[in-house]
Amino acid sequence: MNSGEMKLTNFKFKVSEYVISKDGKSIKCLNCGMTSHNPIDVRDRYCDNCHIFHEREGEDYEFSWLNIFKSAPKEDKENGIDIWLSNVPTAYRKRRINCPGDITIRHKRVSGAKTEHIKILGGECKAVLYIFDFLDCLIFVPIESIKRALMNHAFSVIPNKDQKTSLAVINLNDLKYLKIPIKKTEGENLSLKED
Ligand SMILES: [Zn+2]
Repeated sequence: MNSGEMKLTNFKFKVSEYVISKDGKSIKCLNCGMTSHNPIDVRDRYCDNCHIFHEREGEDYEFSWLNIFKSAPKEDKENGIDIWLSNVPTAYRKRRINCPGDITIRHKRVSGAKTEHIKILGGECKAVLYIFDFLDCLIFVPIESIKRALMNHAFSVIPNKDQKTSLAVINLNDLKYLKIPIKKTEGENLSLKED
């Protein structure tokens, strides 16, 4: 589907790097999982384990109707944005298999060209969501969640079929994700990108 739209039922999506406890006295880092009760860490949104100041407050994305637009070629090549879901920059991958319980992103290319792995870790990927379009379901993963798994080396590497790239395989248990089971009929498939 290169233009037009696809209907999904209501869903909510949250992208965040940390959680402040209900009493406001501790902060949990979602990069590493560490909780700090140090009031200065809480005030500064700081993780002493990762040595980072968190920038992204939780953002809610809520859709009742998704308008899907194909990105400009430049956005795709430079910023890893394949599609726009309304105003949300999104990476998209189609797979002709049922969801195997993990997702894959390009890890290395023989050519040395920049891969998603490098773009996501380096912040060049401007997508905030990644949609994996399996035969039996759509899986929505925040890019921050993928970044966290990559930073924590929570993935394995396998060669791709083409022998020119390798893939980072990330188990869904190591990610925050939203799974939407789908029954697809002919002609209903998104067909933006495939490997
Ligand atoms: Zn941390």
